[in-house]
Amino acid sequence: MNERAPGFEFSLFGIPVRVELWFFILPLLALQNRDVRGALIWGVLVFVSILVHEFGHALAMKANHFAPSITLHALGGFTRYPDTARPTPKQSFFITLAGPGAGLTLGLIALAIERFTTTTNPDIALALSDAVWINVGWSIVNLLPILPWDGGLILDAGTQWATGRRHDRVVALSSMIGGALIVAFAFSQRSMLLGYFGAMGLFQGYNRWNAAPQPMPAMPLRTDDEEKQLQLELMATSDVVKRARLGEQLAWVRLRKGDFAGARRAVSAMEGVPSVSLQARLAATDNDVDKVIRLLEPAGAATETDRPLLLSALIVKERYDDAIALARKHVDLAASASTKLFEAGAYAQSLELCTSERLRTGQGVHAYNEACCLCHLGRLEDAVTALQKAKTLGFAGLAQAKTDEDLAPVRNRPEVQALLGLAN
Ligand SMILES: [Zn+2]
Repeated sequence: MNERAPGFEFSLFGIPVRVELWFFILPLLALQNRDVRGALIWGVLVFVSILVHEFGHALAMKANHFAPSITLHALGGFTRYPDTARPTPKQSFFITLAGPGAGLTLGLIALAIERFTTTTNPDIALALSDAVWINVGWSIVNLLPILPWDGGLILDAGTQWATGRRHDRVVALSSMIGGALIVAFAFSQRSMLLGYFGAMGLFQGYNRWNAAPQPMPAMPLRTDDEEKQLQLELMATSDVVKRARLGEQLAWVRLRKGDFAGARRAVSAMEGVPSVSLQARLAATDNDVDKVIRLLEPAGAATETDRPLLLSALIVKERYDDAIALARKHVDLAASASTKLFEAGAYAQSLELCTSERLRTGQGVHAYNEACCLCHLGRLEDAVTALQKAKTLGFAGLAQAKTDEDLAPVRNRPEVQALLGLAN
């Protein structure tokens, strides 16, 4: 556990605020080029401005039912979620945006007062121009899409919210490129602070790039014992990206063991967003068919291992044409799709797939299945023809027609009896 830096605490709007003494380094730095009075004004405005920014975050958290706490430290401030909070990407997006939003509002109010009033008091004039610079300037820099600043976090949460999955490499690239540009600019301006800002972006972007999780296999190659191993690893690391990956793996291990409640616990304790595959699998254990479809149907969302689940969901919702379209696009699904459609009583649609599979593969089994569909559709002549085709194509399992309930309507026809070698 780390020692807390010396400081003092107070509470505002029911939100605890802690100010570390190191925070006052920031205003003290102003003494380099201001007198004590000017530095004091600067100090007060930095304090108020950072507080307003953090309260933007904090009040947005409260509105989302998280209990926030604020800390002001040597490099500014941050607003912390309670340890148990798992904000969704949409929540993080707006909560992060609320900080610079509050700062910009304060800055624009100061700008309006500066513009539309006249003051002869030099202290007030200085305070107003400081307020504009600190709030407008800072908010804009803070909104650049670079980690760990708010703009980077907004990009991170916003892309997750928009697409339902993490985009670590996009965020990493944006931070590295932005950071490098700022470092270059800082050199030309000889600005230490700006250089530090850019270097942070480069560093965090580089880390994020390397930590970007690999796409998860649907069935992780982990055995039972490794659940404990994963939990140990989770406890041992504080790296957010790594924790997200471990949490996802833990959920998969539990899902595979049939421990659905445990899988759900792993997901709710997880930082970041679970993969679409995992979300869909969990929705399926809830019988939330609509959610499965919502997650997996968008182009490119379903992986090869997710598609059978999407297919089943479409058939449950009686979206047979979409199921057929999916099976035509991914022919490895066609055989199981025709079976599932048949079991769902969608004989016409099942027939459609059996026929196209027979034409595609030339296998007699599909002709046999066509015959079953045709019997259910009452097209008995066609069913007989299909059975003959199955024999012509060399279907080895033709003998099951002797007992197959689906073929009962045509079994006693002489052509079929002849086909089956039962003729006398
Ligand atoms: Zn912020």
